[in-house]
Amino acid sequence: MNLIERVVAISRRRSPWICRLNAGSCNGCDIEITPLLSPRYDAEQLGVELHGTPKHADIVLISGTLTLRSREAILDIYAQVPNPKAVVALGSCPASGNVFAGSPLVLSESLDSVVPVDVWVPGCPPRPQAILDGIARAAKLLEDGATKSQLQNWLGRLS
Ligand code: SF4
Repeated sequence: MNLIERVVAISRRRSPWICRLNAGSCNGCDIEITPLLSPRYDAEQLGVELHGTPKHADIVLISGTLTLRSREAILDIYAQVPNPKAVVALGSCPASGNVFAGSPLVLSESLDSVVPVDVWVPGCPPRPQAILDGIARAAKLLEDGATKSQLQNWLGRLS
């Protein structure tokens, strides 16, 4: 990594931009994101910014269980996030379907089988502190060039 790439990587860690996706959640996890931006947790003071478009994001936060309808949308939106990027899965739903497992329209696969998940934040719902910690861990992976998508790109260049 040359000097300019190193400066960009450090800047990205200190100001990760976030795009939020709801794959089919009960909104419990999404409600826990809101306090992050309040004075109590003040994620913006740490450089974390929520953005409406995936084209400006470094990190994608995905809540909820995979459904027949959301699978394609997630793939489409994930493809719009520029490299390098990281994925943080919020709550138990993306991992297992949680309380929705077995429902007719719910896919019985983990989010990791659709997009590469870098950080799992467990809980139903996870506390805001845990979400902030997940974002910080994803930002550190981005700085180190160690997210799954970065490693996949690196391996792709070798072959
Ligand atoms: S993990 Fe719990 S709170 Fe979060 S979307 Fe699933 S059921 Fe709702």
